[in-house]
Amino acid sequence: MLNLLPWFLLALVGDSLALVATALPGSVNLKDYELKHSFLIDGQEFDYIVVGAGGGGIPAASRLAMAGHDVLLVEAGDDPNLLSDIPGGAMALLGSNIDWQYPTIPNNVSCLSARDNNACRFSRGKCLGGSTSINYMMYTRGNPRDYDDLGIDGWAWKDVKPYFLKYEGLQDLDELPPTSIPYHNTNGTMKVGFFVDSENSWHSRIIKSLQLLDIPFNPDVNAESQIGVTQVVGYVHKGVRMSTARGYLTRKDVKKVLKVAKRTRCTSVILDENNSATGITVITQNKLDLLGLVKKELSLYARKEVILSAGAIGTPQILMLSGIGHAAHLKSLGIPVRVDLPVGDNMSDHVLPLCIIQADPGLGIPVLNPFVIGTKGVQGVQWLATKDGPLASNGLTDATALINTKCYDFEQRKLTHNSSDCELPSLQIINAFIDRNLLQSIELVVQQSIGLKLDVVRQLSAANVHKALLVVSPVVLRPSSRGTIRLKSTDPTDDPAIFPNYLSDERDIEEMLRSITILEHLAETPEYKAHNASLLHLKFDGCPEYEDDREGYWTCYCRHMTYSVFHAVGTARLGAVLDEQLRVRGVERLRVADLSALPELPRANTAASAIAIGERVADFILNSEEEK
Ligand SMILES: Cc1cc2nc3c(=O)[nH]c(=O)nc-3n(C[C@H](O)[C@H](O)[C@H](O)COP(=O)(O)OP(=O)(O)OC[C@H]3O[C@@H](n4cnc5c(N)ncnc54)[C@H](O)[C@@H]3O)c2cc1C
Repeated sequence: MLNLLPWFLLALVGDSLALVATALPGSVNLKDYELKHSFLIDGQEFDYIVVGAGGGGIPAASRLAMAGHDVLLVEAGDDPNLLSDIPGGAMALLGSNIDWQYPTIPNNVSCLSARDNNACRFSRGKCLGGSTSINYMMYTRGNPRDYDDLGIDGWAWKDVKPYFLKYEGLQDLDELPPTSIPYHNTNGTMKVGFFVDSENSWHSRIIKSLQLLDIPFNPDVNAESQIGVTQVVGYVHKGVRMSTARGYLTRKDVKKVLKVAKRTRCTSVILDENNSATGITVITQNKLDLLGLVKKELSLYARKEVILSAGAIGTPQILMLSGIGHAAHLKSLGIPVRVDLPVGDNMSDHVLPLCIIQADPGLGIPVLNPFVIGTKGVQGVQWLATKDGPLASNGLTDATALINTKCYDFEQRKLTHNSSDCELPSLQIINAFIDRNLLQSIELVVQQSIGLKLDVVRQLSAANVHKALLVVSPVVLRPSSRGTIRLKSTDPTDDPAIFPNYLSDERDIEEMLRSITILEHLAETPEYKAHNASLLHLKFDGCPEYEDDREGYWTCYCRHMTYSVFHAVGTARLGAVLDEQLRVRGVERLRVADLSALPELPRANTAASAIAIGERVADFILNSEEEK
């Protein structure tokens, strides 16, 4: 999860290199879209308006425009920057100007070591590509049961699988076994493939050690079985991030037809007296207006439909601002109620305790050594010139494992396969690497980027003086805790009230405890032991000592080191808020196409599902037009 190469750059020259990279345009710099945006006028009409240019919105808008419709895509953010293009730069995008950096409300049973008064970190992309422009680029699609078990008409795996395949442009099928062929498409617009070699010896060591616990090597977790340790395919092509902005918006056939309004924030959906969506209201900001002083408020109209794709936070916010939500909540803010629906309920997010394994380092050369500085500088130049080298990799993150912890034999220390549920992963292990002696010089940068309290960062950096740190993230794939989104006020530019409510259900802690025991076993495999590896026991006020109460210690640890994978779903869910064609119940001509629609988290990273939903909404609309 944590890729620390960019931090090297930060450490070497302060923030300046990263700042320069942030300011420079990346591969998705859509100047020609700019021209169209500046012509937006109050009252302007389009066939379709899509709100939010992220995982779901870009595919939806692109397909509708390619089918010959006059489509406007509005996005609150701007172009992604150069750092977003660099796979090794992902971590430095957290807390940057293309991250919404939403504040959250603490529940005081999770994120107790979060820097901002126990408020969990909550990152979302704010630029073309949305969160696909700042994510960690892991391409996993999930388990067929994620859809079959929803029990929603038309949403079984057989119904959704074609949409996953439609956009997939797998470049490395020849590196997968022949049994993978039926599960992939090589021609889709989202080109995905393996990251280049991270040149870190821990990569193969991690894979081998997990195999020592009888976790099988699985060459393709997007095929027959998800279970095992794998080198996962990434949203990366020719050494550059493959966001939806790059995958769709840079296509000539899309550029020719799609209108995109950047720096344009939707503030509400316009509903007529029959609860039919006729358009949206927006606030737009000119590019040269850096201070945001000259903002225009416009009403834009859709002859056919409005599609909300502002993500699991933005979409419920816009719905509630438009009078669609819990009646009592809307009334409490004085918003006239148009439809009483459970908008903003049921938020579910992948969550993990940040765990650290300390180990003897391979290199162990201090960061400020001229040799290291030179090497890192060369790597930067290498990436710029050839899009190759270590910065084209996402570090150890592509070495990942998916297992069901209830199928792990804790006595025997091995994964078993004694029921069909063993095919359903409950845990994903994600890895990252911090080379020895790195943290001390960049404690404040780490604090800003990861959002941990300074005393925790200091404990990490003290351990890092003599040891490399493996950041091992055991992700709870099916958390039971649920959060909510509500409005703080009627001001559309106010952040919504996000209450993630992580670890409020004890079952999530139980899953974390099983995962941590597996990590302890991992650290005791010969591969790790040969490097004097052990799980780091950080100290927290109010937690029992590990030696006195192991389970109490780890429970308390999980409540302190809680971290989100930023995969929230379910806040305008199919069934309760949307019908099976993604139409908002009780409203005409309004659909939702993003992860707020998914009632349950897929047992996987989530971008793949968002893109499939975007593809799907376009088909729903185009098919319904054919029927008329
Ligand atoms: C740091 C991070 C790491 C992640 N790692 C991975 C990973 O490795 N693999 C993976 O598969 N997934 C990953 N994800 C998750 C994945 O990227 C998201 O689940 C997916 O992009 C969600 O798609 P979406 O369309 O629902 O929302 P988004 O992609 O977030 O798109 C929503 C868009 O709407 C815009 N918007 C919001 N409000 C408004 C408004 N009022 N007006 C106009 N525009 C608005 C936003 O700026 C944004 O561009 C990660 C996410 C993050 C943040």
